[in-house]
Amino acid sequence: MKINFTQKATLLLLLLGTASFAQNGRKVFGKNVESINPVNGKIRCVSSEYEKSLQEKYPQRASSQEFENWIAPKVAQVKQQMASARGIDAVVTIPVVVHVIHNGDAVGSNENISDVRVQSQITVLNQDFRKMLGTPGYNTNAVGADVEIQFCLAQRKPDGTATNGINRVQRTPASYASESSVETMKAATQWDPTQYFNIWVVYFSDSSSAEMYGVLGYAQFPSNSGLGGMAPNGGSANTDGVVIDYRCFGTSTLAPSSNYFDDYDKGRTATHEIGHCFGLIHIWGDNGSCTVNATDSAKDFCPDTPAQAEEHYDCTSTYNTCPSAPGNDMTANYMDYTNDTCMNIFTLDQKARILAVLQNSPRRSTLPASLGCQPPSLGTSSFELLERHEPVSESGQPIRNTEHANRKRFA
Ligand code: ZN
Ligand code: CA
Repeated sequence: MKINFTQKATLLLLLLGTASFAQNGRKVFGKNVESINPVNGKIRCVSSEYEKSLQEKYPQRASSQEFENWIAPKVAQVKQQMASARGIDAVVTIPVVVHVIHNGDAVGSNENISDVRVQSQITVLNQDFRKMLGTPGYNTNAVGADVEIQFCLAQRKPDGTATNGINRVQRTPASYASESSVETMKAATQWDPTQYFNIWVVYFSDSSSAEMYGVLGYAQFPSNSGLGGMAPNGGSANTDGVVIDYRCFGTSTLAPSSNYFDDYDKGRTATHEIGHCFGLIHIWGDNGSCTVNATDSAKDFCPDTPAQAEEHYDCTSTYNTCPSAPGNDMTANYMDYTNDTCMNIFTLDQKARILAVLQNSPRRSTLPASLGCQPPSLGTSSFELLERHEPVSESGQPIRNTEHANRKRFA
């Protein structure tokens, strides 16, 4: 085909543009890092890079397309229930263990963060997932959702003895430079992922040549249930959970400290990463497309998040990177890359996805019935007399004998 000069120039520009977009020179998990904050050099999240590497490592793991095909009818079912007169009307409580990984620092210094700081993170999660009135997690958007999930710090260990849900582990290295060192640590310290949601707080290396340099966190996406001949565990059960750098864990509002990263000091890294664990995709769909269809399959599979062509790094609410599609970019969404203070919304469609994953995905569907948040003294048998989804306070402490609990119990 003969092309003229203008066409040649356009082609060249397109090629150059693509090359500079894809090559910021960084690889994590052996994959090109897709987005780096142009101002501070931080890599907000490497969950999609991690997923690509897992799919290579475990060929039996469902591909993204297979996962979407599996989850779609389940999301549709949840949406039907959400639209019914009663709605979901069932708050689910998820037991959490926070592994604080350190190399011998006193409690409260450096990466061995204080109990108060860990508890402040649980508070943020409950404010955000419950869209709690009067907190930074509240919003008045018509599509803003109370996800009806809350988190509690575990009160019993897998062996049945008492815990405050904070598992301090002294290990080397001091800081984590590579994928293999983090993944080895995860497998060695994880609590039964069918009964506990695992969060690891680590110190990612400050060495600019380290693979994990500048990374704030990453999560393991859910896999399918293994029906239809696919691997039931989707590979790597013993790495399931979320890893977060200690400098963006907890909130400076409730647990002040001098060691937070600027702009990432309000606990939203954990909110974002847990969103991934329950199936959410970045709000721009990790691609530049502006195509809108009924299932939003070109983007994040959530029709109520406006089509957005790229990620954002500040709170500006008037970006419109997909002018052909309705709505400005939703920079307040937890699944964008904006600063912590910009964020305050999960949408109703995101909620439907989260609940569909929670009800059906391995190592998620078993969490709501876990005894992890019952103190050992209650025992299994007496616990079974109680309502399983007891409410917890903002900081994750179970609330007993409340009107709400009684209403649920005897309803
Ligand atoms: Zn992410
Ligand atoms: Ca969308």
